[in-house]
Amino acid sequence: MGRTGVGVAHRRLRVRVRVRGTVQGVGFRPFVYRHAVALGLAGFVRNDSEGVLIEAQGLETAVDELCRVLEECAPPLARVDAVEATTIPPLAASDGFEIVQSKDVGAPAVPVSFDSATCDECLAEVDDASNRRYRYPFTNCTNCGPRYTIVIAVPYDRAATTMATFHMCAECLTEYEDPADRRFHAQPNACPRCGPQLRYADTTGKVFSQSEEALDMALDALRSGRILAVKGLGGYHLATDATDADAVGELRRRKARDDKPFAVMVGDLEEAGRLCHLDAEASRLLVSPRRPIVVAARRSGSLVDRAVAPGLREIGLMLPYTPLHHLLMSGVGRPLVMTSGNLSDDPIAHVDEDAFERLGPLVDGVLLHDRAIQVRCDDSVVRSAGGRLQALRRSRGYAPETFRLPGPALRQVLAVGAESKNTVSVVKGSMLVPSHHIGDLEHLATYESFVHATRHLCHLYGVEPELVVHDLHPEYLSTKYALEMGLDTLAVQHHHAHVASCLLERRRTGPVVGVAFDGLGLGPDGSLWGGEFLVADLHGFERAGHLAAVGLPGGSAAIKEPWRMAVTWARAALGEDAAQAIGSKLDPRAAQVLAILERGNPPQTTSAGRLFDAVAALVGIRSRITYEGQAAIELEALAGSVAPEEAPLYPVGTSRTEGAIVLDPRPLVACVIEEIERGTEPGIVAAGFHRSLAHALSSVAGEIARDRDIDTVALSGGVFQNVRLAQAAELALTDIGLRVLVHREVPPNDAGISVGQAAVAAFAPAV
Ligand SMILES: [Zn+2]
Ligand SMILES: [Zn+2]
Repeated sequence: MGRTGVGVAHRRLRVRVRVRGTVQGVGFRPFVYRHAVALGLAGFVRNDSEGVLIEAQGLETAVDELCRVLEECAPPLARVDAVEATTIPPLAASDGFEIVQSKDVGAPAVPVSFDSATCDECLAEVDDASNRRYRYPFTNCTNCGPRYTIVIAVPYDRAATTMATFHMCAECLTEYEDPADRRFHAQPNACPRCGPQLRYADTTGKVFSQSEEALDMALDALRSGRILAVKGLGGYHLATDATDADAVGELRRRKARDDKPFAVMVGDLEEAGRLCHLDAEASRLLVSPRRPIVVAARRSGSLVDRAVAPGLREIGLMLPYTPLHHLLMSGVGRPLVMTSGNLSDDPIAHVDEDAFERLGPLVDGVLLHDRAIQVRCDDSVVRSAGGRLQALRRSRGYAPETFRLPGPALRQVLAVGAESKNTVSVVKGSMLVPSHHIGDLEHLATYESFVHATRHLCHLYGVEPELVVHDLHPEYLSTKYALEMGLDTLAVQHHHAHVASCLLERRRTGPVVGVAFDGLGLGPDGSLWGGEFLVADLHGFERAGHLAAVGLPGGSAAIKEPWRMAVTWARAALGEDAAQAIGSKLDPRAAQVLAILERGNPPQTTSAGRLFDAVAALVGIRSRITYEGQAAIELEALAGSVAPEEAPLYPVGTSRTEGAIVLDPRPLVACVIEEIERGTEPGIVAAGFHRSLAHALSSVAGEIARDRDIDTVALSGGVFQNVRLAQAAELALTDIGLRVLVHREVPPNDAGISVGQAAVAAFAPAV
């Protein structure tokens, strides 16, 4: 912003300052108050529906200083998007500076803050035997604590949160009302006398004990290898000793989860560093107030049991983010598995009655409390990819952070996302808000959660959708929901949405060459896309290239059973007889698959994800999967010990059809088969596959960029969660002089689809 003007040094004036961004519920008003008082300014500060509004009157130099401070020294949880100051007529009588109560004016449009990990000052109080909050698990302040997960409505005030039922004691109220106190207007402020209490219950919900005793009972149970349900910020965790093979195995059996990795909570960064290799970015992410799960390569000989992440080189670590976690970790003294409290793929339990019903059969005891969770919110998952953030799941700690659109949207939008890894997004003004992680809609409970989340997000931001945007796939439950709303709708192709989500987060509008590699998404031609080169911007796209199409035998069975794609690709590369010989070694039903491919007219797909499945099965690591993406993840892990530049480079074909370039992996697949038959180490073959595909996709993208005179390539889609592939592709593209956009804050997987849909719909011409 501009300064308030030049003039006489001792000029007195009054300004009205509008501050936009995440500025409510983050201690912004007391921050303004303290600086205004120190600068001798008169006036007021208050929250309203647009953010924070300040009027300040005094010496021009003091007013200028206040504006500087607003922009440069905001409190830790605040995110200031804009500071706009205008000079207004001074008031004749004006002294003192005050914080004025929130006014509920008009439709709320203010971002709510994310849930934030316990700050150091609160932690020190919890550890201090002389403090009244000693060992109190719900200690928080203006700089930390629950936010989004307890918010029922905005403006953000205690009465509109699940803390409304707790009445502050005199001491807490004094803190709450004192602008000089760290807990001034900390809405979830609480202490052992007036706030939420811990309980320890058996699996039927019978409460044994409260408070300190409850904690001790939980600690005893965890130390002796039991499995507990623990109520956290956004839902229940299932917790058990991560170093105890029996406990981890038992948890897998009860949760009906064969291989999908469990997250592990460790006491501090030092312990995390003993378990995993952490670069500076991974360390920064672990200790950030968002406290996501950080995926990192495990050290050999680490204490954590192998069964925590079978077949993988990486594990997901996180640090404690509530005082309760800190008390648990210091009490147990060992890493704990902390996995979502659910059976198999159901949504995480967050309501007590439901938790007892669903989790009771899985656990030996329940550690809970009496503060309700308003919004179910899983832990977020991120990693450092070559020293840069890569979000894999944005949820607790990230939701509901907003993204800024390149300009004001033409309309209010609801985007309902994809079918798996679903999120929804809303658009209002220049703001795009993605929801927390919702999950796979094919599960009824998750679908219900989707409906609830959609309504809640619209309600919180006062969005009345003028356009509902959905995937092209008519069978997605999100699509059906959108079409049943009775509003104007827009279908956005799946891979266009992927590329658009990358453009939005990198603050570009295109056109770019978007390389969208993922599982399956419906194309406008009715085939199943998934290895696409799209010349795209926020308005539209043209399919300039793609992987060669092959048959997808057995529909959804082909996704769960990678051996089927191995047969498909072996047939495409080497013919019927070779495919029969190779396939029969993988599964006795290979002949049936070949018959489907020959005569059954199976759907055609260009999916890169299915190509990874095929190669994983061909190198012999996996014929069946128990979680999405497992074959590709294990193929990347298998390649792990081979340096990227030492991997063999196999041939890949290209051709042109109807103006589009076809990347033909058949020679590559033939080489993979030949190498394995010759007895080459599977890790080397896996590394060679990654390197060769990265080179091939880069040269195709490069050719399209040259043809169209475009200088930028965007990499999106779930396949680019594969760091080895993504980094090799980025390197190769940079080498030929192209700028490369990769995902950082928006997941490259289908969790980003609603973001891309929303970005397209925000600027779509009249529909
Ligand atoms: Zn705090
Ligand atoms: Zn109190």
